[in-house]
Amino acid sequence: MSSRFTCYRCVHCCFFSEEKESPVLLWHEMLYLSRLGELLGLKLDFKSLGQGFYRLVFNGFCPFYDVSNRACRIQREKPLACKMFPLLVSISSLELTVSLICPWVRENFTKISKGMTLEDIEEVFHEEFKALREVVEWVYVVSKNTSKTAIYFTTYYKDLAQDVINKFKEKYEVIKIAESSVVDGFYYVLIEGEVDVNDAESMLKRDEITWYKIEKVPPIT
Ligand code: SF4
Ligand code: SF4
Repeated sequence: MSSRFTCYRCVHCCFFSEEKESPVLLWHEMLYLSRLGELLGLKLDFKSLGQGFYRLVFNGFCPFYDVSNRACRIQREKPLACKMFPLLVSISSLELTVSLICPWVRENFTKISKGMTLEDIEEVFHEEFKALREVVEWVYVVSKNTSKTAIYFTTYYKDLAQDVINKFKEKYEVIKIAESSVVDGFYYVLIEGEVDVNDAESMLKRDEITWYKIEKVPPIT
């Protein structure tokens, strides 16, 4: 199995006419996108699917889609469901399928539908498989039974942001750090377990930090 998946950058995975097709998000992704949406002045709708999953609901183009450039505006920070597309996974049964919405999949369907092993899928959908692995790890390992704390803040001072992140790392188990590629100075820190809000606020209440938010992310049960 050698031919690698090639994304044609068509609009089919960013334009939907049915709610059930739009991306499913993990809880922390929903929190992150909702803050990012606020900062970008976008009105976003999310629907809870239960057990820590949300759907970003839209009819037509995704609010993050840049129609004139035919590209996702949040390419680096888009949700894992978008990063793994056209791979699809059932969270309850772990059944792996491919989406026939994707033209590359339709063109290559005869080839890829013949008894592919997991190794073949990883070879053909190399980058997408990494995102799929992250989703499965998150659902089955990372988020099982322990709460997390999501911290967001904005500052124009990079050194100060690093200093704040280091302070969190000294006291807590930081499992994810992200700096937005579309909103200058927007940082996101995900911490294992719950943090003392007063303690977190003492690190975040500074003139140079223009905005912050601390949110609890419940475990997937
Ligand atoms: S987040 Fe980006 S990749 Fe995902 S549906 Fe929206 S525009 Fe498309
Ligand atoms: S539908 Fe397939 S080819 Fe089109 S943008 Fe999405 S992944 Fe790429």
